[in-house]
Amino acid sequence: MDKIQMTTPLVEMDGDEMTRVLWAMIKKHLICPFVELKTAYYDLGLESRDASEDQVTAYAAYAVKKYHVAVKCATITPNAARVKEYDLKEMWKSPNGTIRAILDGTVFRAPILAAGIEPCVKNWKKPITVARHAYGDVYKSVEMKVPGAGKAELVYTAEDGTVQRELIHEFSGEGIIQGMHNTKASIESFARSCFHYALDVREDLWFASKDTISKKYDHTFKDIFQEIYEKEYEEKFQEAGINYFYTLIDDAVARVMKSEGGYVWACKNYDGDVMSDMISSAFGSLAMMTSVLVTPDGNYEYEAAHGTVQRHYYKYLAGEETSTNPVATIFAWSGALRKRGELDQNDRLMKFADSLEKAVIDTIESGKMTKDLAAITALENVITLNSEEFIQAIAENLRKLL
Ligand code: NAP
Ligand code: MG
Repeated sequence: MDKIQMTTPLVEMDGDEMTRVLWAMIKKHLICPFVELKTAYYDLGLESRDASEDQVTAYAAYAVKKYHVAVKCATITPNAARVKEYDLKEMWKSPNGTIRAILDGTVFRAPILAAGIEPCVKNWKKPITVARHAYGDVYKSVEMKVPGAGKAELVYTAEDGTVQRELIHEFSGEGIIQGMHNTKASIESFARSCFHYALDVREDLWFASKDTISKKYDHTFKDIFQEIYEKEYEEKFQEAGINYFYTLIDDAVARVMKSEGGYVWACKNYDGDVMSDMISSAFGSLAMMTSVLVTPDGNYEYEAAHGTVQRHYYKYLAGEETSTNPVATIFAWSGALRKRGELDQNDRLMKFADSLEKAVIDTIESGKMTKDLAAITALENVITLNSEEFIQAIAENLRKLL
């Protein structure tokens, strides 16, 4: 078979530890034998970030603005231990945080379903995609420990000097306070990304907050979603046969548990953080969860939802056999290649992405899988493979499909 040609490169962001090892295996066995791969390569491995004073992360993000599609490997977010381990010049920021700050947008996380890896919520038949707002709220808040009796206030000073004040609490003793914010622009782009994504995958969109209690903060989210929906998306949703639905967050949680899945659930930043971990573990495994950042101006960055799997990496370095699950990282590649194909009207590339995903699912459903899945599968006579054997088994199935 002649290799599939690409017209435009996609941005490739390499990463760290076990996922960096998987990255190379995936390219070697599953991509490069079939696709004449064109990428703009950025090494976001910690050594390279340190050597470039983290400039490489910003360059990679700007490349996404240029090429519109990216695939990213998991990366280490350094803490004190990592600074020592890698002898870093500085405790560099989270690469995902840096990239999101440059690109803005919403993170969509969806489980990868395979027969035999059953969700522990029995009625879930279709994936539930969590759309997490990636800006503000408690993640950008300031906090204070109140040492004793006194008055706490919210104060806003406009550019012209006018002041608005709101009493938080008259403390009679020690306590705590927190101030958080969001911006209209960011909430609007969050809403648009969600409507856009739901149309793309033709699934209903749910959004929930606590507007009954938070009458200004959460209510603003609700109002902005409603306004943008009516002005820009209602007709398109009707044409696509899908719905937009708002409810209270506690009601949403109850409905999610009783639903059969098959919709996009938009969550505020904190809700999305918490709920996406619940959804992914209930669907089986973090290693079976895709993640894509969609920006308001139409850029896409695909990655796995898990980290660099440090514990496995140290075993790998010690020469021990590892059975790390590469599925989410493979789906990051297939997602990026499919989107590249879609934007470039490259049918062969889109079909290749479909075949690659099918080969992964076929392999698992035939009973060949990594250790983490073998531990939870309902299938019998399972063959547990190490990472490379599993990737080679996928390659064999992929060859048959192509
Ligand atoms: P992690 O890499 O997600 O791994 C946590 C545990 O989950 C692993 O030890 C493993 O459990 C299991 N696991 C995760 N992915 C797996 C896979 N593909 N196959 C099999 N098992 C898997 O999280 P972490 O160990 O807390 O973090 C390691 C590094 O990743 C940190 O430096 C963190 O900064 C970084 N991180 C990066 C991203 C990102 O780039 N998006 C996200 C999160 C964390 P067992 O050990 O029990 O097998
Ligand atoms: Mg979290």
